Amino acid sequence: MGAIRGVVSLVVGAILATALVAQQSGPPGTGGADQTGQAGRGRGGRGRGNTIQIPPKGECPPGTTEVRPQTCQAPEFPPPSIVDYRPHSTLVADAHPVPKAKFPAIDIHGHPRGLLSSAESLASLTASLDTLNVRLMVSADDGVSGDRLARVIGMIRGTPQRDRVWMFTSIDFRDVGRGWAERAVRQLEADVKAGAVGVGEISKSFGLTIRKRDGMRLKIDDPDLGPVWDACARLNLPVFIHTGDPEEFFRPIDYHNERWLELSLFADRRYPSDRFPSFDELMAERDNLVKRHPRTRFIIAHMSWYAADLPRLARLLDTYPNANTELGAILYDLGRQPRAAHDFFVKYQDRILFGKDAFEPEEYPYYWRVFETRDEYFDYYRGYHAFWKLYGIDLPDVVLKKVYFQNALRLTPGLPQTGWPR
Ligand SMILES: [Zn+2]
Repeated sequence: MGAIRGVVSLVVGAILATALVAQQSGPPGTGGADQTGQAGRGRGGRGRGNTIQIPPKGECPPGTTEVRPQTCQAPEFPPPSIVDYRPHSTLVADAHPVPKAKFPAIDIHGHPRGLLSSAESLASLTASLDTLNVRLMVSADDGVSGDRLARVIGMIRGTPQRDRVWMFTSIDFRDVGRGWAERAVRQLEADVKAGAVGVGEISKSFGLTIRKRDGMRLKIDDPDLGPVWDACARLNLPVFIHTGDPEEFFRPIDYHNERWLELSLFADRRYPSDRFPSFDELMAERDNLVKRHPRTRFIIAHMSWYAADLPRLARLLDTYPNANTELGAILYDLGRQPRAAHDFFVKYQDRILFGKDAFEPEEYPYYWRVFETRDEYFDYYRGYHAFWKLYGIDLPDVVLKKVYFQNALRLTPGLPQTGWPR
C-alpha cells in the first residue's frame, strides 16, 4: 500500500512539477524547462541531447518527466498548468447514470442550512430529495440548539413534509470548565424533549481550534466533557462527530502532496504543524473518547478521513464496537479502489451510513453510481479533489439497504422506523 502510494505520488509530483515550471517560465515556445538550467533546450522528443540521467529511484528534475528508466526529458511544448490540462478521455465505456437511489436513503449528514427557514423552502428541499430518492434528511448543522432548534422542529412538524427532515442538536463547547458539563447536559435533555434525535455534527473545530476557559486547546478526550457523552448513551442518542480533515491538509504543501491544488485554492484547509495538532494526535484523542465511553454510539464522519487507508478504518471499527462511520465527501477515495471498497463495504455492512455533507442535489447521483454500478472511469464532481477517475463498486442489495437506511434507523431510534422496504 505504502509503496503504491509512493509511486503514485511520485508520478503526480512529476506532473505538477512540470506544470508549475511552465507557469513560471518565460514567453511561450521558450520551453519551460530551460529556466531550470538542467533540462536541455526543449528541442523535442527525438534527440538524445535533451535528456537527463538520474540514479535508480531518483526523481526527475523540475520541468522534466521520466521517459525511459532513469531517463528524464523536458517536453518540447510549454507544459500546461495543472488547472489548464483537461484531457478528454478516449475510453469508450458503458455508462449507467443513477439519478435516483435504488432504495430510499437517509442522508444522516445533511446541511440544509437556509432551506429550513420556512415551510416554502422546506417544500423545495423535499422536492429535491424526492428526485434523488432520499426519504429522510437529518439536519446536522452545527450550532443549532435551544430555542432555535425548537422553532425549526415546530416549523417542520407543522407542514405536510413533517416526517422528512429530522434534527440533530449541538453541544456548545465554548467555555468548558467548572460547571460546564451540568449546563450542557441540561441543554441536551431539553433539546431531546424538543425533538432532537441525535447529537452532531460535532464540527472539526472541536480538537483543532476550540479553547477551554483556561485558554488551552480543548482536547477531544478532555475528561471535563465526560458527563455529556454519558448522557448521550443514557438518552439513546447517536453522536455524529467530525474530527480533523484529510491527512494531506496537515502535510507540507509540496509537489508530492496529493491535495496540492486544493490547498492552494483554499487557505482555510491548511493546518501547519506550528499552529495545529497533527492528524495522528487528533485521531488518537478521538479514539480515546470512543474507548472511554463504550456505551455511547459514535458515528464518525467522513470515514474518519481513512478512506484512502481502509485497513486503518478496519482497525478502528474492529477495536471499538461502538464506532460506526459515515461516508460523506470521500467518494473520490472509494471510487478509485473499487475492489477494496466493495470488500470493505461487504465486511463492514452494519457499520457504514450514507451521508452527503454539502447539500448539492446534482452531486448525489455520483454516490448512487459508485455504489450501485460497475461503471468504469468516470469523473468525480470536483476536479480539484481528484486527479483520477471513479469506478463503480457494485454493492449487493442487502448491503445497499443497510448503508442507505437500515444502519441509520438502528443507530437513531428517534427516526420513523416504519414504512421502509424489507
Ligand atoms: Zn458536515
